[in-house]
Amino acid sequence: MDCIFCKIIVGEIPAEKVYSDEEIIAFKDINPQAPCHILIIPKRHIDGADVLKSDDAELTGKLILAAARIARQFHLESGYRIVTNIGKDGGQTVRHLHFHLLGGEKLKDSF
Ligand code: AMP
Ligand code: ZN
Repeated sequence: MDCIFCKIIVGEIPAEKVYSDEEIIAFKDINPQAPCHILIIPKRHIDGADVLKSDDAELTGKLILAAARIARQFHLESGYRIVTNIGKDGGQTVRHLHFHLLGGEKLKDSF
């Protein structure tokens, strides 16, 4: 298995987990770009948002719901950002679908 996030899922690589259920885990980003930077990922390997299928719609919704719930848990009431990068030009460095949850300060405009 070559995927770093799949290794985190099976516990081969440590991560600071903040949430886990049957389908999803969330953990702190190793190189935080904001005071709160958490990655929310499906346990089933999916390359990225570009290859989601209609069968993945419910799982995708659950990932966003988990992000919003974690944001409440981390008291990001004043706002936050949920981001997913896709492919080389989109800045995706880990080819396993993940949503970044960023907050804890006024975020800079991203584009
Ligand atoms: P992206 O560049 O959108 O693909 O995001 C990948 C993210 O994964 C980056 O923000 C990295 O800092 C983060 N990352 C890479 N390796 C690890 C790891 N072992 N534990 C936690 N976060 C990681
Ligand atoms: Zn993977």
